[in-house]
Amino acid sequence: VLQKLMKADKLEIVSHLAASISHEVRNPLTVSRGFMQLSALESVSSHMKNKYIETAIQELDRAAEIINDYLMFAKPALEKNEKLSVLEEVHHSVNVITPLANMNNVKISVTELNCEKHMILGDAKKFQQCIINILKNGIESMSNGGQLRINISCTNNSIDIGIRDQGKGMSEEQINRLGEPYFTTKEKGTGLGMMVSFSIIKGMNGIINVSSEQGKGTSFTIKLPAS
Ligand code: ADP
Ligand code: MG
Repeated sequence: VLQKLMKADKLEIVSHLAASISHEVRNPLTVSRGFMQLSALESVSSHMKNKYIETAIQELDRAAEIINDYLMFAKPALEKNEKLSVLEEVHHSVNVITPLANMNNVKISVTELNCEKHMILGDAKKFQQCIINILKNGIESMSNGGQLRINISCTNNSIDIGIRDQGKGMSEEQINRLGEPYFTTKEKGTGLGMMVSFSIIKGMNGIINVSSEQGKGTSFTIKLPAS
């Protein structure tokens, strides 16, 4: 089992990223537009038309993925710092991701210990985005389905959120690169999800630990100060 603490230096890149990300969204939109124009040409066979439209849709999906992983996070102007119920926010995030879990034969379970009244300080949308990105990776790591277990336990001063999947796991190299902008091993990955999650937890004065074993699964532990 490999262990790694998140690296602060990776996070410093984040602030320079907004421009690069709008570029990443604009690219597929431009490509999509080009293929739509091609497909509208009269000289194009209906077979090719279909191919062009298919490509245009794939590119639009890519733009949507980037926005899904990043967008809520990319609104610093609206940033709030309020008291949030950890249980409520986690349950909300689970509700958002449940349709994806169902589609992938993944069962999500939430257990909690002593957290009924525990509050954390942060922005609800950002915190949800952080949890959703981690849950989504867990689901995507289990290509044949499985269990995604969330375990929340609270003490007076701190809150631990464990998220454990039974998926393909990561190599040491992959763990080291986790959270690097655009690092992805997926054909249609954005490589933004973990960067966003790490950055949000850092902003809440928390830490994330990752342990992973290839072929067995991955476990994330988020530790946050109680408010
Ligand atoms: P993306 O999901 O778009 O690839 P992320 O930043 O969310 O981007 O994740 C980066 C990479 O980290 C993934 O491509 C994958 O290789 C690895 N990863 C993250 N979470 C998990 C997990 N739960 N199980 C296995 N690999 C993971
Ligand atoms: Mg992801």
